Amino acid sequence: MIIAVDGPAASGKGTIARALAAHYGLPHLDTGLLYRAVGVSVARAGGNPDDPDDALAACDFPDELLADPELRSEEAGPLASRASRHPGVRAALLERQRAFAAQPGGAVLDGRDIGTVIAPDADAKLFVTASVAVRARRRHAELAAESLESVAAEIAARDKRDMERADAPLKQAEDADLLDTSDLSIGAAVQRAIALVEARLQDRA
Ligand code: C5P
Repeated sequence: MIIAVDGPAASGKGTIARALAAHYGLPHLDTGLLYRAVGVSVARAGGNPDDPDDALAACDFPDELLADPELRSEEAGPLASRASRHPGVRAALLERQRAFAAQPGGAVLDGRDIGTVIAPDADAKLFVTASVAVRARRRHAELAAESLESVAAEIAARDKRDMERADAPLKQAEDADLLDTSDLSIGAAVQRAIALVEARLQDRA
């Protein structure tokens, strides 16, 4: 069984994807980490993530980089978003994600284009979202250093860049279920996600 979980930054998609993977005993891939690895590699090499050649050169990063805590830093998100716009970068990371999805027994993948591009035939697809105000509050609670306004502005800028790019933009797949977590606790959001997946599995049975 393949479960695709897409959505914008701080929507709760990563938490939900991990919980679904644990619930169904499936391996999980956070595909954002791959783009973060590219963004951080470009920066470390002194390159520019807006430059397609610099970004492409960073795509053969070593696997160990995926465990580097710097990938989860606040700076890595926008670097990833800028590098991920280039079609060459997306093509370079495609096979790895498709192979993860195709492993025997299935998998849970979360990202921006899992239901639309990476695994269009996934058994269940969730599009997890929340208002910008709620997502900014969540991020702000983790980042004491920044003002709520600047966190909200960064989230809105990243949403815009991810939704407006030409190649594999962030969007809800036609057959994805929408899960708005704005007014839900983590536990309630996970329960709702499991219920939505179960309903899809029943439909397919
Ligand atoms: O999900 P996360 O915040 O780690 O993703 C970082 C960035 O990587 C996103 O803003 C997006 O630009 C890019 N990304 C993508 N496609 C994916 C996952 C992430 O373009 N499947």
